[in-house]
Amino acid sequence: MLFNDIDLSKAKLQKVNLPNVQTHPEIFLLRLDLIHPQIHGNKFFKMKYNLLEAEKNNFDTLLTFGGAYSNHIHAVAAAGKIFGFKTIGIIRGEEHLPLNPTLQFAADSGMKLIYISRSEYRKKHTEDFLSYIKDRFGNVFIIPEGGTNALALKGCAEIPDLIKTDYDYLCTACGTAGTLSGITAGLNGNKKIIGFSVLKGGGFLKESAENLILNFTQKHLSNWSIKMDYHFGGYAKINLELVNFMNEFEKLNDIALDPVYTGKMMFGIFDLARKNSFEKNEKIIALHTGGLQGLAGMKDKIAGLLKIQSC
Ligand SMILES: *Cc1c(COP(=O)(O)O)cnc(C)c1O
Repeated sequence: MLFNDIDLSKAKLQKVNLPNVQTHPEIFLLRLDLIHPQIHGNKFFKMKYNLLEAEKNNFDTLLTFGGAYSNHIHAVAAAGKIFGFKTIGIIRGEEHLPLNPTLQFAADSGMKLIYISRSEYRKKHTEDFLSYIKDRFGNVFIIPEGGTNALALKGCAEIPDLIKTDYDYLCTACGTAGTLSGITAGLNGNKKIIGFSVLKGGGFLKESAENLILNFTQKHLSNWSIKMDYHFGGYAKINLELVNFMNEFEKLNDIALDPVYTGKMMFGIFDLARKNSFEKNEKIIALHTGGLQGLAGMKDKIAGLLKIQSC
């Protein structure tokens, strides 16, 4: 399988300015969101070696799990269509019609959507559930929720290779911390890596990252940290401060952020910069991990917040 459709030359570094901060260190976004219209961002790197592994072992179907707005579901559906796998998405919760934009895209890409209750969903990685999957769907290549496994780390470890300049910090948003772990592994002790948890109570992410990095590299790397203060109330939770920040950032830089991941990361960088947590001469690179597809599902929520503001 060749990843001809993926254009890594589009992953340029783009200098950005922060709204309302007079002087701040140089900040660049690595535009991973531009490498492909449908599987882009970190999700391509997380999937790359999973797809190669599935192909090598003659699997014709990928099966994965996710919530109704999941960027991971979107990416697996796109990958299946582009690289020639059938796909099955096990979706948490009940079916709601009409489908939201994420699930409509998945369905249009040929993904078979199976809905399971939240309590069943919690058991998705148990032996029982996996044998049920095998009985029902046969021999399918299973990618975990969020796409984080050792093969995902291997792909993300290649992200720093795209950066041909010197810098001090590499930043990313964290959902499962698979991406943070992969880039940390790839940097092999160099630079400082900062993750921004998009989950409330994301303390477990530190332990996950610790284990993922140790298992993958056989080393205790400690040049990374995860900030826990920029989740805005939890996964996919937003408020006016975040929305206004994202809008100002977009006006200033002509780069759209998504409210679930990159918006929160960039707000975190903005907050650290205005509190002078970085030295003036330091250089920061942040991953634009994509995720803009999720904006469509958040439109009403954002419009609601802005309407309250204007009342
Ligand atoms: C999935 C996702 C992340 C989180 O990646 P993890 O490896 O789960 O930490 C970050 N940004 C975007 C846009 C994503 O879709």
